[in-house]
Amino acid sequence: MSNEFLKIENLHIHYVTQEGTVKAVNGINLELEKGESLGLVGETGAGKTTTALGVLRLIPDPPGKIIDGNIYFEGKDVLDLTEEEMRKIRGNKVSMIFQDPMTSLNPVMTVGEQIAEVIEIHEDVTSAEAKEKSKEMLELVGIAGNRSNEYPHQFSGGMKQRVVIAIALACSPELLIADEPTTALDVTIQAQVLDLMKNLKEEFNTAMLLITHDLGVVAEACDKVAIMYAGEIVEFATIENLFTDPKHPYTVGLFGSIPNLEEEVDRLNPIKGLMPDPTELPSGCKFHPRCPHAEAICAEKQPGDTDVKENHRVRCFLYTGEVERKEEEK
Ligand code: SF4
Repeated sequence: MSNEFLKIENLHIHYVTQEGTVKAVNGINLELEKGESLGLVGETGAGKTTTALGVLRLIPDPPGKIIDGNIYFEGKDVLDLTEEEMRKIRGNKVSMIFQDPMTSLNPVMTVGEQIAEVIEIHEDVTSAEAKEKSKEMLELVGIAGNRSNEYPHQFSGGMKQRVVIAIALACSPELLIADEPTTALDVTIQAQVLDLMKNLKEEFNTAMLLITHDLGVVAEACDKVAIMYAGEIVEFATIENLFTDPKHPYTVGLFGSIPNLEEEVDRLNPIKGLMPDPTELPSGCKFHPRCPHAEAICAEKQPGDTDVKENHRVRCFLYTGEVERKEEEK
């Protein structure tokens, strides 16, 4: 049992394929409070989407398997719930927005029908009431209610994503999981959709798990941030702590890869090397082949989580005193 709103403990998720076992999530721990927004940041293949699908118990099995760990939602471990109990949670208490609105919407149903369908499944309402509420939801995301009889192809990309948000919020979920919700959109539309999500989240006091590879998006929309690398959370902090004082060498590398308009530099300082193959992860700290501070211990032993201050923890031997920081090469 746990009293936290969402608490993930030591979660391990693998995919067993003919090419080998993909170790997608490797012992992650994280907490989210009611109404709070957490950004899950990492490169493609870091395990972000697998973590989110794990929360909803939507890992395709086979080939996926939750190997170990607990996912407590409102005190109950979702891994112990029946499929019937899970169905009540999905869409009702927890909703998910996927990256590509084109593939999330049904092309042969009107947008109004798609919103009303969700309302009818999860709430005790008549079809007429659901239809009326679907118009209200459209208005809420900035689309005229009288467009509810139109089909997805009659909307632009940004508007389609608004419809997807309306569907996700139709049953006032307590937790919204948004997987790269703005990646498929133009930059100007991205900002509008992010603002919309932020406002709706505040209005309904919805907690949000926002998956992204973009630190700018996180700064815009989140209270806390978890940095993922090779299926692990290597740093967890409030937005302020992470942006003013990043600790993990991977996080520092991520910031070094972003152009800063206030600083004139000859060239950016990207992280050397590539993310490891998830079927053949390195021993010890998974970041050691790319880390400028790595020492022998980093390849031998896996670092644990160290609290560097309140609401800021990091998985690195630099903060246990077992490795000394080296002067970084320019
Ligand atoms: Fe680098 Fe070692 Fe820290 Fe890993 S544990 S990030 S290799 S210093």
